[in-house]
Amino acid sequence: MFNSNFMEVNFKALSINEGFARICVAGFCVQLNPSIDEINDIKTAVSEAVTNCVVHAYPEQKGIITLRCEIEGDGVKIIVSDYGVGIKDIERAREPFFTTKPSEERSGMGFAVMESFMDKVDVEKNEKGGTTVTMFKQVSSALQVGNA
Ligand code: ATP
Ligand code: MG
Repeated sequence: MFNSNFMEVNFKALSINEGFARICVAGFCVQLNPSIDEINDIKTAVSEAVTNCVVHAYPEQKGIITLRCEIEGDGVKIIVSDYGVGIKDIERAREPFFTTKPSEERSGMGFAVMESFMDKVDVEKNEKGGTTVTMFKQVSSALQVGNA
């Protein structure tokens, strides 16, 4: 959709950038006039997606995370991509309590959290072999955003 507003940022896959990603998304979503609950849901889902890139995507040298947000109708589409190791079995990875890092006290609930807080969550391998998570959240109070 060429007429819609969007933003895209790249940052290093470091845990300190999880907070940065939350603030970026929250700032961008202000234009949709979200409720506190809606913005908290979006921030929580983004945290889980970004944390996954930080924790799982780059076991050796930390690479890049791309965060893109697009206004789509009365909601926001959020795309989180890494260019790391990828997920072997995406269907399995999405199951609640599935984790490949039980020793690090991961609970395997990241994707379940994203699904419960967002209206739609897609997970796919991207062209660079990493992972792209695409989420959509409708914002009930969304103002009709013009193209100005
Ligand atoms: P939690 O999120 O509860 O701390 P978790 O990260 O293991 O635990 P999920 O977020 O549901 O749980 O992810 C499930 C599994 O999918 C992970 O254990 C990991 O193996 C894989 N995974 C998720 N995101 C990525 C990613 N960006 N790159 C590589 N593997 C990933
Ligand atoms: Mg996780």
